[in-house]
Amino acid sequence: MMRKNDRAVIEITDIGVNGEGIGRTDGYTLFVKDAVIGDRVEVKVMKAKKNYGYARLMTILEPSPYRILPRCRFARQCGGCQMQEMSYDRQLVYKEQKVRGSLERLGGTDGDLLDKIMEPIVGMVEPFGYRNKAQFPLGTDKTGKPVTGFYAGRTHDIIANTDCALGAPVNKDILEIILVFMKKHNIPAYDEKTGDGLIRHVLIRCGFVTKEIMVCLVINGAKIPHSNELIKTLSEIPGMTSITISVNMRQTNVIMGESFEVLWGQGYITDYIGKIRYQISPLSFYQVNPVQTEKLYLTVLEYADLKGDEVVWDLYCGIGTISLFLAQRAKKVYGVEIIPQAIENARENARLNGIDNAEFFVGKAEEVLPEYYGKMRGTLESGGGVSAATMDSARESAPGAHADVIVVDPPRKGCDAVLLETIVEMAPERIVYVSCDPATLARDVKALRGKGYEMEKVRAVDMFPMTVHVETCVLLQRRTM
Ligand code: SAH
Repeated sequence: MMRKNDRAVIEITDIGVNGEGIGRTDGYTLFVKDAVIGDRVEVKVMKAKKNYGYARLMTILEPSPYRILPRCRFARQCGGCQMQEMSYDRQLVYKEQKVRGSLERLGGTDGDLLDKIMEPIVGMVEPFGYRNKAQFPLGTDKTGKPVTGFYAGRTHDIIANTDCALGAPVNKDILEIILVFMKKHNIPAYDEKTGDGLIRHVLIRCGFVTKEIMVCLVINGAKIPHSNELIKTLSEIPGMTSITISVNMRQTNVIMGESFEVLWGQGYITDYIGKIRYQISPLSFYQVNPVQTEKLYLTVLEYADLKGDEVVWDLYCGIGTISLFLAQRAKKVYGVEIIPQAIENARENARLNGIDNAEFFVGKAEEVLPEYYGKMRGTLESGGGVSAATMDSARESAPGAHADVIVVDPPRKGCDAVLLETIVEMAPERIVYVSCDPATLARDVKALRGKGYEMEKVRAVDMFPMTVHVETCVLLQRRTM
């Protein structure tokens, strides 16, 4: 066992769930932030438990062959990136192994099967500047000047940096304009502790396809003094489409206010994922990496293998992005999502794209699907002793009782057991599982494999380079009895 302040020399052999390096000395495990797999390092123990401890990286004795200079000089302090000091190729290997390891260890999947069905991870050609959305907090530095940047890991201390390597280059211009304006007119940044000050956050969104730009200032007050001057300068930025304010006077961690007001231009920007067009307001949810999102959705479409006459359910559908992608190739798509505004957006997006074969329901997937299925099945069964042809026509008029393909894209905690049972009862030909957490994916896939489904394909997509997150798409096919 080691004690606080002990020093050790270790080889980093693994990566933890938060991107930290992991090394062992005499069977004792040390977690070392900023250490990269393959590094030989000297560390100092900061916190010691019985079998493991957390240590600080003191000296890199021998750098890993995968260690690179980070693009951003704040990479270590900032909470946004965890892996900038590891080469991108190695990051992809790490993510692929993380998915594979989960399916193997937690999902009880045979290694030979995984050898056969795991497809190469889909990485980015340019793994920087990929985010179309940024929310910059404002604060005041020690000299009283307004600053903006990012929170240091696990704190609310602002690291002054207007030039995040993951964001759009235009962010810097916009933020500098706002800081200069605040200084000139002595407009104070909001202070979380006292609740005083005016400007809380700046939200910037960019349409990567359309090149449209949105700026929304979140303020602790009714308006910004001299705002015409700010609007004039911001509106001269090429692509500027929407300048808004959102009033948030509550002392809360929630960034946005409940509504917004247009100061200049329109209240939304437009962007595309594939052929589908979206109107994005300051309050709408929208995928932050549109380039990789398209690759993920194309994977879903490929795995769903639609011919045009299928009934498809898209559970946890958000603003209906996957549903609308699938609707281009299916007879009917049903989307289910718990957040009512997201469903409003989904319906608007369907209308905007002239898609009329998608229907959306608000509610928990684990409640909506069983209810709908039970009801529809009831309609079918009440016929009693009817001919196959009548059953078929009943099926036609109550298509919700039947599903050819079910897509799920749950949050980190995965699918509810009741939902998985209902899916199995509905017996779709294919289930396409999109997951942001390999551990719950492995758990749910294991349950489905035990109930007549076989895992046929697995493909990870890197939606968030430089971070530890990874998305996975899995195809499960119903076994023929
Ligand atoms: N498929 C969408 C969003 C997936 S994120 C896209 O690609 O953009 C997961 C979504 O599940 C979120 O929108 C969240 O609000 C929703 N959600 C969380 N729990 C849910 C539940 N029990 N039932 C239905 N939706 C849920």
